[in-house]
Amino acid sequence: MSLVTHWIDGGPVRGSGDATQPVHDPSTGQVVAELGLGTAEDVDRAVASAVVAAEAWAQVPLGKRASVLFRFRELLVASTDELAALVSREHGKTVPDARGEIARGLEVVEFAAGIPQLLKGEHSEQAATGIDVFSTREPLGVVAGITPFNFPVMVPLWMSPVAIATGNAFVLKPSERDPSASLLLADLWAQAGLPAGVFTVVQGDKVVVDALLHHPDVAAVSFVGSTPVARYIHATASAQGKRVQALGGAKNHGVVLADADLDDAADQLTAAAFGAAGERCMALSVAVVEESVADALVERLAAKARAVRVTAGDQPGADMGPVITAAAKERIEGLITSAEEQGATLVVDGRGLVVDGYEGGFFVGPTVVDHVRPEHDVYQQEVFGPVLDVVRVAGLDEAIDVVNANPYGNGTAVFTASGEAARTFRRRVRVGMVGVNVPIPVPVAWHSFGGWKDSLFGESHVYGPEGVRFYTRGKVVTERWPQRTAPAPTASFHFSG
Ligand code: NAD
Repeated sequence: MSLVTHWIDGGPVRGSGDATQPVHDPSTGQVVAELGLGTAEDVDRAVASAVVAAEAWAQVPLGKRASVLFRFRELLVASTDELAALVSREHGKTVPDARGEIARGLEVVEFAAGIPQLLKGEHSEQAATGIDVFSTREPLGVVAGITPFNFPVMVPLWMSPVAIATGNAFVLKPSERDPSASLLLADLWAQAGLPAGVFTVVQGDKVVVDALLHHPDVAAVSFVGSTPVARYIHATASAQGKRVQALGGAKNHGVVLADADLDDAADQLTAAAFGAAGERCMALSVAVVEESVADALVERLAAKARAVRVTAGDQPGADMGPVITAAAKERIEGLITSAEEQGATLVVDGRGLVVDGYEGGFFVGPTVVDHVRPEHDVYQQEVFGPVLDVVRVAGLDEAIDVVNANPYGNGTAVFTASGEAARTFRRRVRVGMVGVNVPIPVPVAWHSFGGWKDSLFGESHVYGPEGVRFYTRGKVVTERWPQRTAPAPTASFHFSG
């Protein structure tokens, strides 16, 4: 059984503690590796190495930093098959979907490779007589990233390329469910020429997270995960005086208006609800449908849900794999049961699914629940599984009210043929990322990603221009040089222009 280690000071390292935790292949239920859980001592060792590395790295010229990012990009492309297989094995998502997450992470690397352009400051010539003023942005030092299980490559790549390109050292605490991809990323960074200590991995659970949150040499924390933990991270790290961006959970609504192309909307909703077994923070888990077309849409959704091919993620033709753990399967099936008990209509029931050849896997089939009401548990909670709720509404105004009443505000989409309705929707909806006939509106890398309300704690969205700002702090220089040809004015006790 292989042991998943940390990556500290430029290479794999066993931790100081003995505690381990099994890593499963969710398709078979088998244990595929043991994860060494980190300790506060391991965090101290990692941060000490990162502090030294950050100081030197911040002095490396921008063009040289960019060339490391270019090489990292090439290595990522060349390693896509290996990385995708690893992600699929520990997460369960299909191999094409794992390749997709790598491609989205790659975009951020490409954005960050433009760091010489991104870090250009502002300059005011002759702001006062003989005085020039300019603003620069400087790195913070050591920054930490704490990431969820559902995108073991993409989410670390939302953070680390921008943090590193801006001159910081980055300490990653990956999810303990699918930790192996983080070590391959560390190896690729090293092969790309990144100095030891600039990218570090400390594996583990809350013990490691808490040590990072309280470490005096960690200047900033980026977090992506569930809302209760995001809230805790934001409160705890802020109280320690750190800069924090903490992205939380979601309940994303896809609004289908009566004039939408129903076949297309059903197609998009099916892929967005059941892709990656619904374990995406941008999954559309609620269809909000105009009553006049609801029966027609539900009929299409049911047919499409039944046609989804569910099997192990590495099997050719798989549309959807298992969920992450046996406990997740039990929780999701419990929520489906509660929906039926509370009066919703189970149109397609994914409970009790057994996949031939993978009887030990954590599979839940695609599930469609109609006549869901906001008070039902299946609506109140983030299910994070392949369950699509259908909420029926009278029209656009009620649809917007439903979306805005929800405590989450990560993503939403509207399906319509009307530009006027789409414009009304995008302007009135209180959600951070909006799709118009686009089901999963994850922003491209040169915009920033982030939700509103309970989906984000802190002011800063992740990657893109907001990422560059998050990982840097401003400095303004006001400068005057002695004039040989014209003597400097005498010093004044008063502000002057
Ligand atoms: P999680 O909150 O359980 O774990 C996220 C990270 O926090 C992991 O590294 C984990 O080890 C750590 N952690 C867990 N419990 C902790 C605790 N009590 N104290 C300190 N650290 C703790 O999330 P998950 O199950 O890995 O991921 C799924 C969740 O992430 C979903 O809610 C999903 O919506 C959310 N998510 C959000 C986004 C976004 O962009 N908003 C993106 C991806 C995932």
